[in-house]
Amino acid sequence: MSRLHSVKLNRDLCVGCTTCIKRCPTEAIRVRNGKAQIAENRCIDCGECIRVCPHHAKSAVMDTLDDLKGTAFNVALAAPSLYAQFGPPATRGMVLAALGLLGFDAVYEVAQGAEIVTASTAAFVQKALEEGRRPLISSACPVVVRLIQMRFPGLVENLVPFDSPMEVTADLARRQLAEKTGLPQEKIGVFFISPCPAKRTAVINPIARASSAVNGVIAISDLYPQILAGLEKMDAKTALQEGERLLTAGSTGVRWAYTGGEAIALHMERYLAVDGIHNVIEILEEVENERLHDVDFIEANACLGGCIGGPLTVANRFSAHARQRAFVSRAPEEARQGPQTAPDLPLESWKELPLPNPAMQLDEDIVQAMQKYEQLKQIVAGLPGLDCGACGAPDCEALAEDIVRGEAAETDCIFKLKERIRAVAAVMSDLGEEMNRYAPNREEDPHDTP
Ligand code: SF4
Ligand code: SF4
Repeated sequence: MSRLHSVKLNRDLCVGCTTCIKRCPTEAIRVRNGKAQIAENRCIDCGECIRVCPHHAKSAVMDTLDDLKGTAFNVALAAPSLYAQFGPPATRGMVLAALGLLGFDAVYEVAQGAEIVTASTAAFVQKALEEGRRPLISSACPVVVRLIQMRFPGLVENLVPFDSPMEVTADLARRQLAEKTGLPQEKIGVFFISPCPAKRTAVINPIARASSAVNGVIAISDLYPQILAGLEKMDAKTALQEGERLLTAGSTGVRWAYTGGEAIALHMERYLAVDGIHNVIEILEEVENERLHDVDFIEANACLGGCIGGPLTVANRFSAHARQRAFVSRAPEEARQGPQTAPDLPLESWKELPLPNPAMQLDEDIVQAMQKYEQLKQIVAGLPGLDCGACGAPDCEALAEDIVRGEAAETDCIFKLKERIRAVAAVMSDLGEEMNRYAPNREEDPHDTP
């Protein structure tokens, strides 16, 4: 696994069944010599292959509670989707208190950062629309940002240019805690409790910032049993006092956990909320082809249901959605230490937009790329078009692309291999006949010696 990714393959568990190659949104996986391989420059850490592998050969590489040992004062950042993993009688405050018991010195709600991002986004979108720039696309989901960089580089300029709620909350926590404790930044460890591996990738390979304010990213699923145990043991006094003390966000930020939450918070009429990576691709294709004229803002989440459907969550996304709605309805609309008082406002926008990722281009040189594309079309025309995946590529076009790149041969296609074998067999048969015609004459040659 690359240092820059958080999804890894266990070769011993992989049986080369090809299930994953068809679901990967960037065609990053090939099966070669009976085992899956991930092309690192194409992986966007969406986690689809973790979800679909029937043999559990793909997994996320995440940080653990052991990583807290490296810093003197540790902060947990709770993703908005964390609450929905726990049913009644757990309250948001109780979940935060139980999380704090795992060795953290402070707990922050990322929903608070989401409210800060919402306030900045609302102002930015308003101005952009006045200038005729639309649709704006949310940059909160790191998978969607990476997808745009690779498959839709022309849409990078449509991204809302603010850091994610995770980074905004981490910046806020660092500043407040350094002031409060007097500790230097390097002694403060900030850990995001995450529903997806892409957040860890966004920490080790940040989007539009030089370095992340987060030290580590721990999976919700890894902490779930301990938080649950803490909730079961929690006495009523702690539940009430500690829980109340830790709440900082209102319903606006808590709602970000599910699809539509971010867009609703912006109070916009002409928005579109799409979830599921393949649905997101369909919508982005419409934007790219200028077929989407009546939408000002697109909230796009790689996971079905939004972050509550992340690959590192525990609860079924439908019950998680019902629980989160209950948390939303119980929360005040405005944050307790919300956007109006946040020291971060207005958020600084990105200094530079994320760069396009050329991993899917056939060649950096446009003329070469066009020639290779023509070559690719000819190869595709000669392939059976069954998209069977038996060659180890997701479809015939992907195999043709691999051939053009010099990474595969036409005979990797079993139909082409059969054709080739038949052709060789025909030549062999002709040769055999030729030899038979020649052999009797040689037997009759009187000068032959045994
Ligand atoms: S789904 Fe992919 S990783 Fe899992 S066993 Fe099949 S080929 Fe291997
Ligand atoms: S994490 Fe997503 S992009 Fe990366 S290999 Fe798996 S399916 Fe493909």
